[in-house]
Amino acid sequence: TRAVLGKPQVFGSLSGVRFYAASVPTTKLFINGKFIESKATKWIDLHNPATNEVVTRVPESTRDEMLAAVGAAKQAFGEWSRTTILTRQACMFRLQHLVKQEQRHIAENITLEQGKTIPDAEGDVLRGLQVVEHSCSITSMQLGETMPSVAKDMDIHSYRVPLGVCAGITPFNFPAMIPLWMFPMAVVCGNTMVLKPSERDPGATMMLMELAQEAGIPDGVLNVIHGSVDAVNFICDNPDIKAISFVGSDHVGQHIYERGSKAGKRVQSNMGAKNHGVIMADANKEATLNQLVGAAFGAAGQRCMALPTAVFIGKAKEWIPELVERASRLKVNAGCQPGTDVGPLISPQAKDRVCRLVQSGVDAGATLLLDGRDVTVPGYPNGNFIGPTVMTNVAVDMECYKEEIFGPVLQCITVDTLDDAIDMINSNPYGNGTAIFTTNGATARRFTHEIDVGQVGINVPIPVPLPMFSFTGSRGSFRGDVNFYGKGGVQFYTQMKTVTSLWKAEDATDTKAQVVMPTMR
Ligand code: NAD
Repeated sequence: TRAVLGKPQVFGSLSGVRFYAASVPTTKLFINGKFIESKATKWIDLHNPATNEVVTRVPESTRDEMLAAVGAAKQAFGEWSRTTILTRQACMFRLQHLVKQEQRHIAENITLEQGKTIPDAEGDVLRGLQVVEHSCSITSMQLGETMPSVAKDMDIHSYRVPLGVCAGITPFNFPAMIPLWMFPMAVVCGNTMVLKPSERDPGATMMLMELAQEAGIPDGVLNVIHGSVDAVNFICDNPDIKAISFVGSDHVGQHIYERGSKAGKRVQSNMGAKNHGVIMADANKEATLNQLVGAAFGAAGQRCMALPTAVFIGKAKEWIPELVERASRLKVNAGCQPGTDVGPLISPQAKDRVCRLVQSGVDAGATLLLDGRDVTVPGYPNGNFIGPTVMTNVAVDMECYKEEIFGPVLQCITVDTLDDAIDMINSNPYGNGTAIFTTNGATARRFTHEIDVGQVGINVPIPVPLPMFSFTGSRGSFRGDVNFYGKGGVQFYTQMKTVTSLWKAEDATDTKAQVVMPTMR
């Protein structure tokens, strides 16, 4: 029986009502292959976003616990990095099978802790599972290079070798996908890892650890600590941690990038976004409106690749009333209820922030075409719900445009030409994603080439690349040199070692010491 996955009182029930009459369970640490009760003095209550009932208590790991996690990872690195690549690949094949088998179970936990709908949570697991699947091709991806005969009897070859202990710090909005962007790639390359999941929904990470263990990944190779600011700063400063992968908000990402880099670590930091969808009047109206509604309000707008800003060119603006009508038909309810389109936001604070930003837009002159702020959800009076909200007459100097809203709010902007739209998007500091909706190939091509955003969709609203590519958000949405997963992932989690060897055909010895810089001849 599984320690974490097998605990129905923690992860099994979705009613939100039957929970914890008596005592609230705790989320464990995972250190050196064991799920351990923390000795923390500070605990964070984790609430079900649909009910605000406490689901579990998450520890702020003590310094000793964090040191133990890094110590276990450091200890495990020697042996793990010497395993054959086929052994590591075989672990990933088994992990792939186990995650697939447990997809629904993990999704239910995501709905409980994070709030998104069950089908959306299954997608969260699936998009991470695809990285596990891709990591199985490590035998081709981790190849080095060779160049024979660079001089007489001399050859050069390079290896891609692992870095050592790596750390992963993850956000609340994709509790399975984002840890899975990180640890399968890190571990399959021969590294060990300390993960620090979001304190708001660490359950999926704990389940994945249990599956990784079952897949044969040895004790100490993967470890999980919990907490927030202190745990993150510990990771930035600890000299045994060689690299940090971070996904989350801007100010935290910049802080980690700077503090981690200063401590000599490799850091990749995926941060906030403000993604624009551009709607040409020649677009397929039916498909475009459905895609806009799905991308703006799916996951209650809490996706870094959501489309919260729709830029209508020319006559396309005549579609806005129909867009509003479609948005108003979405069903707002708890994520565990069948047929739900829009679940709750992660916390009451997140809800307040979204409401405040919407109001700031109204106060600055924007028009509210659909206002979901006062939505009521029968059976869930205490949930953090906001219904689909649509604003128009939004200007680029408004706070609601400049800030990432991260809620079910679509801002409509109308402009005259494609050039106007491209200028607006390229002037925005973020570069995570964008999309154009058109039936004209030349328009799509021009947009693709002139837009300065790292991930572009053509009639695809949320263009998150599959893992044979990398997640290539750019400009203000990313700091670092190498992106997450795909070839970028292998580059991030390995460094090159280049060997120059001289094997003379016969035992000729040099007659004289070479004191000048060696040059290949
Ligand atoms: P967050 O920055 O609040 O939290 C991310 C991690 O940082 C968590 O593990 C948290 O414990 C830690 N943290 C929080 N505050 C901290 C502080 N003051 N000091 C040190 N560490 C701290 O982000 P979130 O709210 O969980 O996630 C939402 C954000 O993540 C959005 O901005 C979204 O755009 C972004 N995101 C980006 C991508 C991407 O790939 N670009 C993907 C998903 C989410």
